[in-house]
Amino acid sequence: MNEFDIIATFFAPLAKDAGACGLKDDVAVLAPSANKTLIVTTDTLVEGVHFRREDPLDTVGQKLVRVNVSDVLSKGGQPQWASLALTWPSSRDKTDIKTLAEGLKRDFDSFGISLIGGDTTSTSGPLTLTLTLHGECAYDGPVRRSGGQPGADLWVSGCIGDGWLGLQAAEGLLEIGPKEELERLSAYYQVPQIPDVRIAEIVARYATASLDVSDGLLADAQHLAAASEQKAIINLSQIPLSKGGTAFTEDKGEVGLLKLLSGGDDYQVLFSVPAGRRDELLAVSVESGVPLTRIGSLTKGEGAFLEQLDGTLIRAAPNGWKHF
Ligand code: ADP
Ligand code: MG
Repeated sequence: MNEFDIIATFFAPLAKDAGACGLKDDVAVLAPSANKTLIVTTDTLVEGVHFRREDPLDTVGQKLVRVNVSDVLSKGGQPQWASLALTWPSSRDKTDIKTLAEGLKRDFDSFGISLIGGDTTSTSGPLTLTLTLHGECAYDGPVRRSGGQPGADLWVSGCIGDGWLGLQAAEGLLEIGPKEELERLSAYYQVPQIPDVRIAEIVARYATASLDVSDGLLADAQHLAAASEQKAIINLSQIPLSKGGTAFTEDKGEVGLLKLLSGGDDYQVLFSVPAGRRDELLAVSVESGVPLTRIGSLTKGEGAFLEQLDGTLIRAAPNGWKHF
């Protein structure tokens, strides 16, 4: 199976958009809507860094799509077109690309994404996948990290810590029960449960600043605070935790909670909303079924601080996931 067979067999079926030209030309054509703004993001997954060598390849495909989709949703946008740069290890059987493509198809279909191009190369190194995802957002542009105002509430979607706990579970390092919860967490690490796409509309309507939580809640709160030139205060008693997260922090206490706030791979959305819209947002959360939790606020100042149970503030160490 040569490069062209691989493209024609596994990837061309995912290229539904006419502008992709069935992956038979050198470029693709994007036809963005006239009343929208085109946005673009790129994320890479490297074997041994972002997924485990033994992770099933369909889950790797889904993770690749989701880590990019969460960026677009966090800006209030909807995903549309993707290009895939695939660097395949010579040590892996080429027919396994089929399994990867199945995972990609699953998520491309569920998020309404068309594959429009890419590149296929081979390496003696680790499996490496880069997806560039284009999306569309409102005409007046994406919700930036920088619009947070003093007095705004900080909200987060879903639960925090499940990505990190999932990696611990997958490696057999997590000593909590029940077994089904360990399996759920492990599956979360492989295929993050990003918020429902309706989060994009909510962000577009309410958020003044927004980003997706990929490096860890504390690190990303710092990013939002820095871009908005504000201080972020995160209330430790308000962090939304799953069953597994609750069991872990009951066992490990505040040190355990800090681990969940510093671990990466959540892919939830963190955003600021003026305090006057609090009740409205709560109602939208209930109505839409998109879980949202108010976890803190922005005030004048800089950095990210944690409000402890007794009300005292401690400065958060800048300890999110960093590659360099
Ligand atoms: P070139 O020789 O110009 O680099 P390629 O032979 O790499 O072109 O690619 C041929 C076509 O297949 C192009 O449309 C390209 O976008 C597409 N393509 C190549 N690899 C991938 C991939 N991994 N996923 C999606 N499309 C791909
Ligand atoms: Mg090429």
